[in-house]
Amino acid sequence: MGESIERKLRKEIIQTALRMNETGINHGSSGNVSVRQDDGILITPSGLAYDTLVPEDIVKVFWDGSYEGRRLPSSEWRFHLDIMRERDDVNAVIHTHATACTTLACLRMDIPAFHYMIAVAGGNSIRCSDYARFGTQELSDHILKALENRAACLMGNHGMLATGKDLARAFGLAIEVENLAEVYWRTLQVQRPVILTDGQIDEVLERIGAYGKQPEEIADGQMPAFEAPLKRAS
Ligand code: 13P
Ligand code: ZN
Repeated sequence: MGESIERKLRKEIIQTALRMNETGINHGSSGNVSVRQDDGILITPSGLAYDTLVPEDIVKVFWDGSYEGRRLPSSEWRFHLDIMRERDDVNAVIHTHATACTTLACLRMDIPAFHYMIAVAGGNSIRCSDYARFGTQELSDHILKALENRAACLMGNHGMLATGKDLARAFGLAIEVENLAEVYWRTLQVQRPVILTDGQIDEVLERIGAYGKQPEEIADGQMPAFEAPLKRAS
């Protein structure tokens, strides 16, 4: 019999957590990773080193807030569960203490439209949530507000989170957001950067959904990401 889908997801969660630290967008056992299931979510356990994790350490948290598994779920199970409950466009959530994002979050700064790639998070800014102690319902409430119409946010005096239709996309977004935070922080060392207008960001928002897709993958009526050169008949 082949490996179950759930076991594959448990392994994918561990791989994602390991890659967060390898790529430098997280450190130590900070951060957490979850994916949606029909009856709840699968989430990393609390406080365990990622390089010790095996699939049995990943915890199942059900929609009613109960859990199943041999480890305690991440202390942040509430916001992972609440995001998946509230947002049917989200199947995966990644939270990290990425350095540049956390720097801005400690300054309680939103990231404005200083670079066109801000649109990858769904709008003309990436908001920073208010502060509440880790693991609380209050933190979850603040995060849901900062995430309105967005796929990522900063978390006041704490870190960042990124969401996606799957783990690969949530991870890719976390990398992009950390890069945006790093470049924004660098621009501020020189002077306030030029901020793009809402119209300029709207133009990018219309096109960014097709970015990375081949022509046959673009839906009818969807705007291509850019004007491609004419393809020669081969
Ligand atoms: P956990 O180890 O409980 O997931 O907590 C890490 C963290 O980043 C808390 O915000
Ligand atoms: Zn954290």
